[in-house]
Amino acid sequence: MNFIFGKNNKTFRPKKSIQEGTHQYDLLQKAAKTLGSGDLRLAVRLPEGEDANEWIAVNTVDFFNQIHMLYGTLTEFCTDAACPVMSAGPKYEYHWADGEKIKKPIKCTAPRYIDYLLTWVQSQLDDETLFPSKINVPFPKNFLSVAKTILKRLFRIYAHIYHQHFKEVCELKEEAHLNTSFKHFIYFVQEFNLVERKELAPLQEFIDRLTSRDSSRSGASAGGGAASGSGGALASASGGSSVEQTQ
Ligand SMILES: [Zn+2]
Repeated sequence: MNFIFGKNNKTFRPKKSIQEGTHQYDLLQKAAKTLGSGDLRLAVRLPEGEDANEWIAVNTVDFFNQIHMLYGTLTEFCTDAACPVMSAGPKYEYHWADGEKIKKPIKCTAPRYIDYLLTWVQSQLDDETLFPSKINVPFPKNFLSVAKTILKRLFRIYAHIYHQHFKEVCELKEEAHLNTSFKHFIYFVQEFNLVERKELAPLQEFIDRLTSRDSSRSGASAGGGAASGSGGALASASGGSSVEQTQ
């Protein structure tokens, strides 16, 4: 698999890493261990005695890295020509504004939007006053609201990938990886109420299918394979012609 961003994509930044030997690193290891158990609902829960902000911070960094990597394998398909707008199906179109440097939302191509988005997230994660990496440095009061904005925006990359690039994901045989990453993301944001339901609308039906399989696991029916196989994971995502624009 090619994890390095396309030759023509010089703007991608290196990923954020959590330093070995720190408490956050231990937390991440703990998370990875529970994930291995296969029960994602359990894996997202706050480990006993741990600080919720720190847990959210560590996982946010991890999701950022995962999405960065997943999207990185698709940059040759997600081009200005192929994706002239940042969309998630026919009903949802996103215009970029970060509220600081770019206040008035701009309409741009998907790769451009995603580049803005990842660059912005990286800058938040690198800001030691927002995401302190040192022990005993408190998280700021606005930490949760920043984390929520980051996760809300990262969701849009999943939404774009599922709607516009699922065929390519299957060709690369990455659908299992994508589904696991997305499911982990959804369980996490649900556990801590981090992303509003309306923001998840472009993938709501898919989310219901993905998560209902688990809730029915204890019962007799395991449900069908959501988003497996090739073709449209989201065949029925359209409907209505109005385009909802969100920043
Ligand atoms: Zn695209």
